[in-house]
Amino acid sequence: MHIDKISVYIVRAPLGRAYWMSLEPYSEASEIVVELRTSDGLTGIGEIHGRPMEKIVEIVRDGFAPLLIGRDPLETEAIYTRLFQSTCSRQGARLNPAGGQPHFGGGVRPQMMAAIAGIDIALWDLKGKLLGQPVWRLLGGGNPTIAAYASGGYYGPEGEAAISDLVEEMGSYAALGYPTIKMKVGGLPIAADVERVRAVRDCVGPDVSILLDANQAYDVPTAIAAARAFRPYGIGWFEEPVHWYDSVFGLAQVSHAIDIPTASGESELHRWGCRDLIEHAGIRIMQFDCTRAGGVTEWLKVAAYAAAHGVVMAPHHDAQIHGHLVAAVPNGYILEVFPNPLRDPLWEELFTGRPKVTNGVLRLSDSPGFGFGLNAEGMRKYATQIC
Ligand SMILES: [Mg+2]
Repeated sequence: MHIDKISVYIVRAPLGRAYWMSLEPYSEASEIVVELRTSDGLTGIGEIHGRPMEKIVEIVRDGFAPLLIGRDPLETEAIYTRLFQSTCSRQGARLNPAGGQPHFGGGVRPQMMAAIAGIDIALWDLKGKLLGQPVWRLLGGGNPTIAAYASGGYYGPEGEAAISDLVEEMGSYAALGYPTIKMKVGGLPIAADVERVRAVRDCVGPDVSILLDANQAYDVPTAIAAARAFRPYGIGWFEEPVHWYDSVFGLAQVSHAIDIPTASGESELHRWGCRDLIEHAGIRIMQFDCTRAGGVTEWLKVAAYAAAHGVVMAPHHDAQIHGHLVAAVPNGYILEVFPNPLRDPLWEELFTGRPKVTNGVLRLSDSPGFGFGLNAEGMRKYATQIC
């Protein structure tokens, strides 16, 4: 039994409005779906989040697919090593001989790690299907129920505060039974964001934990000032407070100056970047996203390193995949879900058999692999097959 076919789809769902984060709007839900088929007819599904999607697809199709055909899909570690090593050795030069410069130069690092992510996730889905086990159990987990928080709280369609809509939205998550909710900050002056946070706290009462995500909005002094201003409203974590260019040592200055735990990692590409955050940035919560970079194989290494340093895992997005991983590691903490179907139509429409969330608890099934399939109607509506 071996891998004999790879299919790739680009999935795009334009949203009805822009959902502003601190620095940019979110206006399209999108992903790449990778399907690996074996010689005996099983199909593993992988998902990738990253852009430009066409570049990632090109790396999967032209760079990595030829290395996969004929391989045993159970060899997840060996295949990961083969793909990853091709990015930092002369093997990589063979992947695009007509391109002149080596295909895997610094300019496509995120795309290359995203391509590996989708392939690796599909391999783990296949492994579960081949062995008849859900991934959470394959990895040794004993409890398929995991805490989840409701993520939302964006700015308005023009980036404005939109406080009444914000309060209604966040209050609706609390009413659904989520004990933890997350909202955006960093897009407006600190005083205006404090008003937003205060309004949400007044609405949900003292017992709901509020997390804040700044999406890399601040320099170091402003991040420290913002954290101190938000502090009276009972904040569970302060996520990615610092600009991209100072995201390790700058974040360390923030972590050490404030008494809200800091969270980061969704923008990291591999275990070494996560190591630097854990060792040097003072974070308490690691958010490495296996659909953006590296897949399950890399995520598990990050989780082990985090566990040895007292850091918990709260991965970014894609609870239908990350749920299996959080359930299986001793420092698995919480999952991110997006209950607003207008913000995340793919969570609603793209899958069959995806896990349900009740009162802030996600329950995984016993179905083999990741336990979900692709909804034919959702794929017809949003997906384009590339190969
Ligand atoms: Mg975030």
